[in-house]
Amino acid sequence: MSSALHLLNADLHCHSSVSDGTLTPEAVADRACANGVQLWALTDHDEVGGQQFALEAAHARGMDYLTGTEISVTFAGKTVHIVGLGFDHTHPGMVDGLAFTRGGRERRARDMAADLARVGIPGAFEGALKYVGNPDLISRTHFARYLVEVGACGDTHEVFRRYLTEGKPGYVEHRWASLGDAIRWITQAGGLAVIAHPGRYDFTPTEEYALFTEFKAHGGLGVEVVTGSHTVAEYARYADMAVEFDLLASRGSDFHDPNESHTDLGTLPDLPGKVTPVWEALQARIHRA
Ligand code: AMP
Ligand code: MN
Ligand code: MN
Ligand code: MN
Repeated sequence: MSSALHLLNADLHCHSSVSDGTLTPEAVADRACANGVQLWALTDHDEVGGQQFALEAAHARGMDYLTGTEISVTFAGKTVHIVGLGFDHTHPGMVDGLAFTRGGRERRARDMAADLARVGIPGAFEGALKYVGNPDLISRTHFARYLVEVGACGDTHEVFRRYLTEGKPGYVEHRWASLGDAIRWITQAGGLAVIAHPGRYDFTPTEEYALFTEFKAHGGLGVEVVTGSHTVAEYARYADMAVEFDLLASRGSDFHDPNESHTDLGTLPDLPGKVTPVWEALQARIHRA
């Protein structure tokens, strides 16, 4: 059943310069507000350091706010992202868990840089670090920006295709948090866990079924249906999955940067009428402007 809440312009997935986005939380808030977003969540990777800034920036612009983060987990040998919404961003279990999982990023980045040096691209660790400052937050996106800077590729998407994805010369396997850990950090802090962009993982139907089943068993409650990472066919497919698995549906652009991102903040279609928006269950967790 469609309701007035279906028509709310909610954008519950995006990044700032606190992780691998390029705009500050305040500049992301400006852009969300200019695009008509009414309910916003900033979901930086494995980090909540931008939450207080985002919350204040949202309120200063008249937007309602939900706290957010996007946690990397390893499931069935692949990296899966779990978005957390509406939690207490000062909760020690969450803060310590995220710090622990971020700790592995510097080691991986040094290994990636060594691989890239072997294929003729030296200095990539220092080069990528320039784009983020903190080695615990260094991501493939920062390497991609550096490889564009030195002319190895024309744009960041080409860098991912040629260097930074499985089987390519700058890709390094990494063991992230477990699915259960990520869901526990989120739910113990009072939040709600959401499977991010399920259409992006290249799982077989059996693996995908296992992900949804285990996610539910650990207490996960939502799935992204309308996201910048999905095709229109995937909006329909994951709306069906949300109904089948009795999951709440989320909507978010996954905006990172005005030039790199395909989808701008607040510009996605509304959720299909057959699903229940995740923000219906999060009413008490919303910080009202
Ligand atoms: P990391 O957490 O360091 O593995 O980096 C993952 C980030 O890289 C994602 O959050 C995206 O922002 C970006 N990313 C991953 N795959 C691609 C791709 N094929 N094209 C562009 N960006 C990508
Ligand atoms: Mn990212
Ligand atoms: Mn993601
Ligand atoms: Mn994201």
